[in-house]
This record gives sequence, C-alpha cells and structure tokens, in this order.
Amino acid sequence: MIMLILSFDSLDSNLEVDVIVVGDGVAGISIVTLLKKEGLSVAVLEARRIGSYVTESTTAKVSYTSSLIYSRVLSQFCKEFGLKFKDAYFTGFNKIIDIVDDLNIDCDLRRIPFYILSEDETKTDMLDNELNALKELNILAKIVNNVPCPFEKINKALVHENQLEFTPIKYLCGLTNYIDGSFVFENSRVLDIKEVDGFKIAKTENGSVKGKNIVIATNTPIYDPDGIYKHLDQVKSHSLGISLEKDVKDIFAVFNLFHTLRSSPSSKGEILVFLGDHRSIDNLTDRWDFYKNLRNYSQDLFNVKSFQYFWSGRDNLTPNGVTIIR
Ligand SMILES: Cc1cc2nc3c(=O)[nH]c(=O)nc-3n(C[C@H](O)[C@H](O)[C@H](O)COP(=O)(O)OP(=O)(O)OC[C@H]3O[C@@H](n4cnc5c(N)ncnc54)[C@H](O)[C@@H]3O)c2cc1C
Repeated sequence: MIMLILSFDSLDSNLEVDVIVVGDGVAGISIVTLLKKEGLSVAVLEARRIGSYVTESTTAKVSYTSSLIYSRVLSQFCKEFGLKFKDAYFTGFNKIIDIVDDLNIDCDLRRIPFYILSEDETKTDMLDNELNALKELNILAKIVNNVPCPFEKINKALVHENQLEFTPIKYLCGLTNYIDGSFVFENSRVLDIKEVDGFKIAKTENGSVKGKNIVIATNTPIYDPDGIYKHLDQVKSHSLGISLEKDVKDIFAVFNLFHTLRSSPSSKGEILVFLGDHRSIDNLTDRWDFYKNLRNYSQDLFNVKSFQYFWSGRDNLTPNGVTIIR
C-alpha cells in the first residue's frame, strides 16, 4: 500500500486567507494546487486525512467519458449545453495532464483505450447513437468489431483512444509535496460556515478560517446555498480487486449492467479493479449480495486466480446522469 508521505496538524487557531477550500480529496487538492499557482493564499480544511475518503476507493480512470453520456446529454439538452458539457470534461482531463507534467509527478499515468460495450445484442444500436452524438460534438471515437480480452466474444464496441489511468494516491502525494508550506489542516472537520460582511467564515472545533472565497469540495452536502444537492442521489458502488491468470490491458464499461473494469499495478502484481452497479443508498438490501453477484459475474468472464480486495464507495449522481454545470 502506498502511504501519503506528509501529514498535517489540525487547525487550532484563527486565520485569514484569500480562499478556503473544504475537503481534500482529488478535487480539493487539485483546486488548492491551481489556486496556489495563481499566487493566492489558501487554507484547506480536511475532516479526515488527505484523499482518504471516496478518492481512495475509486477505479482511478481519467477520461472524458464514462459510458453513453454524450447521447444522453444531447437527447435531453440543446447542442450548446452539449458543448459546455464536453468542454467541462475535456478541461478537467487536460488539467490533470498539465498538473502531472508541470509538477513532474510520478503517478503511473498511462494512456489507454476505453471500450464501451453491451453484452445484450439488442442494445448495441445505442453505440451508434453515441457515435453520432460524439460526431456532432466533434469528439473523436470509433466503433470496432474486434474487442480485446476479456470481451473477445463481443463483436461491437465504441472505443475512445488515449484515455488515462493513474494511481490516485501517488498523484495526491505529488500535490501534497507541492502545497506543503500552505495552510493545510487534517482532522479539521468544518462544522459551520457563515457569511459575515462579504467574507466566509469556516469554523472547526478548535479554530476558524476567514476567507474572501470558499470552495466546497466535500462531495457531500455541508454548505449548499445554491441548493445543488437536492438534485443529487447518493449511490453506493461495490468493487472487487482480482488477480487473474491473464492480465486485462484496457478500460471497459459494460453499459447494460453498468460495470467498469481496468487493470492496476499493485504490490501484488496487476490487479483487475472491477466496479459493480450503482445502487441508491435508499435501496440497499444485503451488501454481500452485490459482492456475490460481482464475484459470480467475474468468474464467468475470467480465469480468476484469487480475489484480493473488496470495498465500496459512495458518490452523488443526478437522476438523469448528467453533471450539473452552471
Ligand atoms: C467506487 C467509486 C469509483 C469511482 N471511480 C471513478 C473513476 O475511476 N474516475 C473518476 O473520474 N471518478 C470516479 N468516481 C467518482 C469520484 O467520486 C471522483 O472521481 C472523486 O474521487 C471524488 O473526489 P472528491 O475530491 O470530490 O471527493 P472525496 O474524495 O470524497 O473528497 C472529499 C473530502 O471532503 C472531506 N470532507 C467531507 N466533509 C467535510 C467537512 N465537513 N469538513 C472538512 N472536510 C470534509 C472528506 O473527508 C473527503 O476527504 C468513483 C466513485 C466511486 C464511489
């Protein structure tokens, strides 16, 4: 397991800065890095340890797609919004590449094709719809009829070349080294946020920070003046880490089941990171059933050597699957 090299004290005094960032997952720490590059003074308040919440348990794909998202966007919104949506995805994608290059971070960043497919032949037309939407938005992708391991039996997939994967904790290590020397506080949960005379004040148990601006990067609702969280459902995803007889090289999303899979280097060799379907936390029954389903599905698909890990993570999704962009 890779450990973060640096650790930080909790906040025990009062401070004033340009920007307060609440939450230090991949979103928070990337924002702090960018703000610091702009020469702003920043204080970051993290309730636990850096990267220790959802970020630690993702499948660590960095892509400007996740499945059939662009056809969904264009079926519900106008082309202008589709272009904004594309721009948001591409900007984030390129920003991560720039940060890694600029700070010379060794985080196993590698380019890799991302295949989207269905095991249900009656649904493969949806790949053509997605390709049409991609063309309309000027995004390069293609339909292929030869799909690599472990989906050799499938004869149609949409592929986005040059997507990325990395080891998030190494990426966070690189950023943590860069922001060392700023006001970074761990074990400092924000309990209350107030607006006083145009300033934001974030209060923790033993101190508070005053800032001209505040960024909420908590991935959970703690301060929501724009009412964004009322549009989101909390979902839980279940994952397995599997050692295989034969490694999988690419990223796959199976859209009829919503499963994603990719290989990741680890101290135990290549591990297949295999993420199962999302369930609203209101509809969770026996969580072991999800792991059992994943285990059975993976055994149908691969020659499994051993199951090494299992874990789950929570996320927030809009009901229509389209990210909110203002
Ligand atoms: C299982 C799973 C797999 C995923 N895989 C991918 C993937 O492969 N690629 C991808 O792009 N996305 C993926 N996602 C989406 C994922 O949510 C994001 O990519 C990303 O990791 C979320 O990062 P974050 O910084 O927004 O949230 P988090 O990592 O959750 O960070 C938020 C931080 O805020 C802190 N916090 C919360 N409340 C407070 C408070 N009151 N005061 C101070 N701090 C607080 C938390 O402790 C936490 O550290 C996945 C999600 C899940 C659940």
